[in-house]
Amino acid sequence: MNILHTRRNLPVHQQRDEFLALYQKSQILVFVGETGSGKTTQIPQFVLFDDLPQSNAKMVACTQPRRVAAMSVAQRVAQEMDVPLGEEVGYSIRFEDKTSAKTILKYMTDGMLLREAMNDHNLTRYSTIILDEAHERTLATDILMGLLKEVVLRRPDLKLIIMSATLDATKFQKYFHGAPLLAVPGRTHPVEIFYTPEPERDYVEAAIRTVLQIHATEPDGDILLFLTGEEEIEDTCRKISLEADELVREVDAGTMKVYPLYGTLPPQQQQRIFDPAPGPRKPGGKNGRKVIVSTNIAETSLTIDGIVYVVDPGFSKQKVYNPRARVESLLVSPISKASAQQRAGRAGRTRPGKCFRLYTEDAFKKELIEQTYPEVLRSNLSATVLELKKLGVEDLVHFDLMDPPAPETLMRALEELNYLACLDDEGELTHLGRLASEFPLDPALAVMLISSPEFYCSNEILSLTSLLSVPQVFVRPASARQAADAMKDMFAHPDGDHLTMLNVYHAFKGDEAQHNPKQWCHDHYLSFRALQQADNVRLQLKRIMEREELELVSTPFEDKSYYENIRKALVSGFFMQVAKKDGTGKTYMTIKDNQAVILHPSTVLSQDAEWVIYNEFVLTTKQFIRTVTAVKGEWLLDIAPNYYDIEQFKKGEARTALQRIQDKMKRRDAMHKSKGGRA
Ligand code: ADP
Ligand code: MG
Repeated sequence: MNILHTRRNLPVHQQRDEFLALYQKSQILVFVGETGSGKTTQIPQFVLFDDLPQSNAKMVACTQPRRVAAMSVAQRVAQEMDVPLGEEVGYSIRFEDKTSAKTILKYMTDGMLLREAMNDHNLTRYSTIILDEAHERTLATDILMGLLKEVVLRRPDLKLIIMSATLDATKFQKYFHGAPLLAVPGRTHPVEIFYTPEPERDYVEAAIRTVLQIHATEPDGDILLFLTGEEEIEDTCRKISLEADELVREVDAGTMKVYPLYGTLPPQQQQRIFDPAPGPRKPGGKNGRKVIVSTNIAETSLTIDGIVYVVDPGFSKQKVYNPRARVESLLVSPISKASAQQRAGRAGRTRPGKCFRLYTEDAFKKELIEQTYPEVLRSNLSATVLELKKLGVEDLVHFDLMDPPAPETLMRALEELNYLACLDDEGELTHLGRLASEFPLDPALAVMLISSPEFYCSNEILSLTSLLSVPQVFVRPASARQAADAMKDMFAHPDGDHLTMLNVYHAFKGDEAQHNPKQWCHDHYLSFRALQQADNVRLQLKRIMEREELELVSTPFEDKSYYENIRKALVSGFFMQVAKKDGTGKTYMTIKDNQAVILHPSTVLSQDAEWVIYNEFVLTTKQFIRTVTAVKGEWLLDIAPNYYDIEQFKKGEARTALQRIQDKMKRRDAMHKSKGGRA
């Protein structure tokens, strides 16, 4: 009854009939509403109950850019409908499917729906598809919009709803042939905004200070603090808790409960953010307060009632594409004005609130961009191009994206896929490409996995691929860095980080660890959650390998080529991510684009390796390569002869075939110019 009461009070409820009338009338509908108005939890249910009488055995899908949101909202809606999660209402995220034959409403990440579209171009299992949080403009949502625009023409029975939190709805309407718009008027309270007079040197420290100050001086109401990632958030939660305890003793402040919220948090812990704030410690005492320290998830994806104070340092972790180095990395970057406004809005959900921006008003006005750029414009598109090929999109350049990327970016992606042998010289999907697209992995990882039986180590590469698909397995708490590093040394393999991770995994699966894995991980400074997740990912990838008849084999451990075979298999996928030592110093040069990089301090590899492959390019104060393993120059030629320029190699220079071709073209152009011809 309680839940029902809350639901009836949500703004979207008032517009239920209006929504249904419009929904029945038009095939595509754009629906915008303030965060917290009930879009994600209610609209799919309206659709469901409207659809149900026809009972055409089809499902309603509602996509979310974030896995946490998909899980959390599915759980909430299952509760509202009073059904067990995973039956009528379920969710599907990468490597986890909580649905059944009974499922009629499915929350899923946009990436998962895209994967489904690969095998079912018309998405025939669904009667209605709701693309939620469209304003986030994730890569997957953008591609889905492009696809669905065509699918609705082929399937007049399919309904499409585009839901978004911002009011820039006209862009969506225009894109979808002038689809009608329904806007739920917001019912938010005013939020007072405060800026810092001077820029903050250390935003985390400033954030902690602000939270404590609010707790000590402001009336009741919960606090939402935006930070950028798991480690920073966990660290901050600890610090705030400690300081809050002091505050309780010193000034008799109320109890403070601090909860983290980020993407990889286990579901039970995620749910705790909805717990009510603690009451007074003694009768008549001060009320307690809840503090949530969250990534961008709490910006629009999840609504937490009771928030009155928002602390916004102005940063989030964003995918940034460096076109010069042609690598994407996750970087802590300034947010946009639109984001700042959304964040502030979270303070006015239940009553008038306050937002503390930890930057100056001048910075807000002059330095923040209006809107975050769509992800498609800041990504390496090779995985996307492979997906589109598999989706049957032939003409990539004319595929109707809301914001098309530069043709150059597409060319690069095609080139990369060609070197991976996923596309042939005509740009057609090869057998390998088709196979690679079966795996929910980056093309390089998929190719490595598929090639691994040839190197007699598919069991090991399967484990490694899984480990590379989950968060960091090594835990390095600020308070115990040395102890953690000493433990890591026990697993270290002299040839590099990949092999070290594999050693960890094997130890984790050993009898001693499995006796009490949680404790074992704790004792060894390893993340139990990450390793458990890797195990789960491994199981799912293994199923795909079995289905595709890829053999699972190992070189006997006693054989001296055991580790060497694994390193060779790594080259089969990552031959484009190779760096060569430059002279005698610490510097390495990446082969792909001649970037000077150094090995990330976390590596177990010594500085003498001449050739290394790396998993990740990290740009902070310096350019690092992270997760590196030593390889041999001659393997590169053996395993990726098309990519490497053999002639140059023999001369002792490391160059790629692509560079040779580009140089040739440059020379030809220069010749044309000098002859007065048109270049
Ligand atoms: P919108 O999508 O418009 O931002 P939602 O449908 O997500 O809004 O949220 C509507 C209401 O449901 C909010 O008041 C929110 O607090 C509540 N809600 C959503 N998920 C949960 C949950 N897991 N537990 C408790 N309340 C929830
Ligand atoms: Mg929502």
